Amino acid sequence: MGQTNLAKRNQSGRHITFKTIKLANSEIYQGQLVLINPENPIRQALSPGSLMPLSSIPAIHTLRDGMLLERTCLRQLAELLEASQGINDIVAVSGYRTKQEQEHIYASTLAERGAEYTACYVALPDRSEHQSGLAIDVGKLSKDVDYIAPAFPDTETYKAFKQLAASFGFIQRYKEGKEAITQISCEPWHFRYVGYPHADIMERNDWCLEEYIDALKSYTHDNDHLLFEDDRSFVEVYYVAAEAGASTTIPLVLCDRYILSGNNKDGFIVTAYWDKSRRAHV
Ligand SMILES: [Zn+2]
Repeated sequence: MGQTNLAKRNQSGRHITFKTIKLANSEIYQGQLVLINPENPIRQALSPGSLMPLSSIPAIHTLRDGMLLERTCLRQLAELLEASQGINDIVAVSGYRTKQEQEHIYASTLAERGAEYTACYVALPDRSEHQSGLAIDVGKLSKDVDYIAPAFPDTETYKAFKQLAASFGFIQRYKEGKEAITQISCEPWHFRYVGYPHADIMERNDWCLEEYIDALKSYTHDNDHLLFEDDRSFVEVYYVAAEAGASTTIPLVLCDRYILSGNNKDGFIVTAYWDKSRRAHV
C-alpha cells in the first residue's frame, strides 16, 4: 500500500525546473481533472477523436449499442472490471453523452419523475460529467436496469469494484455526506475517471472532487508540492494558476513522465511521475 504525504515539507526553492511548456489558456477546460458542476460548466465540446466505442472491448456488457468513453477512461474501466471480476455481473449503463442527449435526458426525467427527483440525480446540460467522456454509470446486470439510477449493490463483485476503483483512477463522484458540496444526491453507480494517483489521494483524505481541486491550489510550483509514493512511483502534484492573456507558462520538474490537466476553473494541475521500476533496472 502506498502512503500519501500531505505534510508540507520544507523544500521551498528546491524544485528544479527542468523545462517549461506553454499552454493556451483554453486548455484549462480539458484534461482528466476537470471539475464539472453547476458553477463550472463545460465550455468546450470534446474532440471526437478522444472517444472510443465500448464495443472495442467486447467483454464489457453495455445497456445500449454505440456507447462511447474517453480512451484512457475506457481502458482503465476494462482493467477495473477484470481486476474486480465484475465483467459478467456489471453492465455499463451510460457513458459519454452529447449536449443534446443530456438535454433530452433532463427534459424526459423532469416530465416522467418530477422536479425534485431530477434536481437530485440529473445534471443540467453542460453541467454533466457525462459530456466529458470521463464518467461512467455502472449497474447490476439484470433484465430491468434503471437508466437514471441503476442498482449498484454493496456486495460481492460490486463491492470489489468499488474498493479497487481508486487504484485504477476512478472515484465514486457523488458520495453520501458530500451532497451540500456536490449538489447531487449520493449516486453509488456514477464513477468518474480522474487518474492515478488522484483517485487514491482523494479516497484517503475523504475529499470529493470540489474539495480536492480546492486543496491543490495551495500546492503551487514554487511552494510545496503534494507528494505521493507507492510501490510503483513517486509522484509530485502541483497547481499552476492561469496567467492573464492567451497562454500560461507551465514549469515542469524533472520526472520520467507527466500529465497536464486543466481544472476547468482557473488553472492547471501538473502530475509528475518518477517510475521506481526504471530506477531499479538502472
Ligand atoms: Zn452518471
